[in-house]
Amino acid sequence: MTNPFLEAQASLFEGAVSCRQLAEEYLDRIESGNPALNAFVHTDPAATLDAAERVDARLAEGERPPLAGLMLGVKDVICQAGQPVQCASRMLEGFESLIDSTALAALINAGAVVVGRTNCDEFAMGSSNENSVFGRARNPVDHDLVPGGSSGGSAAAVAAGLCHVALGSDTGGSIRQPAAFCGVAGLKPTYGRVSRFGLVAYASSFDSIGPFAAGLGDLAAVLQVLAGHDPQDNTSADVPVPDFGGALTGSVEGLRVGLPKEYFDPSLDPEIAGPVQESVDRLQEAGAVPVEISLPHTRYGIAAYYVLTTAEASSNLARYDGARYGHRAENPTDLQDLYVRSRTEGFGTEVKRRIMLGTYVLSSGYYDAYYAKAQRVRTLIRGDFDAAFKEVDLIATPATPGPAFRAGSHADDPLSMYLSDIYTVTANLAGIPGLVVPAGETPKGLPVGIQLLGPAFSEAELLRAGSVCWPPTHVSA
Ligand code: GLN
Repeated sequence: MTNPFLEAQASLFEGAVSCRQLAEEYLDRIESGNPALNAFVHTDPAATLDAAERVDARLAEGERPPLAGLMLGVKDVICQAGQPVQCASRMLEGFESLIDSTALAALINAGAVVVGRTNCDEFAMGSSNENSVFGRARNPVDHDLVPGGSSGGSAAAVAAGLCHVALGSDTGGSIRQPAAFCGVAGLKPTYGRVSRFGLVAYASSFDSIGPFAAGLGDLAAVLQVLAGHDPQDNTSADVPVPDFGGALTGSVEGLRVGLPKEYFDPSLDPEIAGPVQESVDRLQEAGAVPVEISLPHTRYGIAAYYVLTTAEASSNLARYDGARYGHRAENPTDLQDLYVRSRTEGFGTEVKRRIMLGTYVLSSGYYDAYYAKAQRVRTLIRGDFDAAFKEVDLIATPATPGPAFRAGSHADDPLSMYLSDIYTVTANLAGIPGLVVPAGETPKGLPVGIQLLGPAFSEAELLRAGSVCWPPTHVSA
């Protein structure tokens, strides 16, 4: 594990490099490395260099901002003042944000410099980054493979060293699955731990903002600033924020780690099971105690997730009607024509599919059969985790059922893509935190991730265990 941000910051604080020089270096890296990866969809070098100079001026005043020197990528669903926020959709082409999201503002105040905006699936709906109006981002390990989604550009950018850390969003795995596919760390914080103000909504009761990093020291430093109460987000939690970096002690003595039998089904791909088991062995060698547990309602997770998130999406995306903002069809004949054509032209296929599914499950006559039932399943899944955390401190699972797949391989079968979210959606249904770190590689050298889940607000414990799971030799590409 390396921590490129903390290393750069040490050079910055020693005076060996300026923040402007770091920004120039990373803009060069993006210029040469991005065309092959399509991880960044927008850069503004002048704004980046201005921001870096402002950090240098603070340093010259004797300030030591905690994230000075951080070169940050930002997923295209997170608002950044004065920059395009397009959600990788034709619908928001040309839209510029007036505000910084609370999460991004906190990082900028702490000295972070945004080097560019990263690619993703349209409105964060997808698992491969193929649903992007900008075209797909590529996996740095093998360009024919997807980087995962929806935050695929963020994961690819960190894995390829085009930025130190990138922000993503996770509604059902969009941080954790791309982290696994690209061989970096990704954290979905507890629902409420990080403000969602300024995150374009997909499914509001599931969405979280979180970081990708090449090392857990970098990740902890960024989480320290991201976490905290925000009165502008009424789901933000007012709870104490522990010292995340201080949790990286390597000590897991006596930690009870649950291994849910439903996630380690005999049908699990041995290429995934092997490295995940090796990570669990590292925990055990360091003194943790593996315990077999059961999360019996896991198999209903995907169905409940895709009913509830499409329902929320159909409501959240109603605002893109061509009248207020977003794409507007030309020469409408009447209001109905304006709505229909603006939405038909502005949204891509997957987003339309979800709006239709969501509208259907909420419609009278079907509401009880789908939406209300899925809410009850959500409660049962939460109950599974509550019961498990009475017996164990953390839960370890595979992050994904298989390694990164070839672009196009799920093109004709959206359901098969949905099913691949099996291990990640339950954390969002329950609102609990999930950390993915590299566990090892398949025989062909593709990254494999392990997922650690914990009770609400246990991110420090996840980081503590994650640093032990991390293979000693693994350094991101
Ligand atoms: N792949 C999942 C979906 O398509 C998760 C997306 C996300 O977390 N934003 O909904």
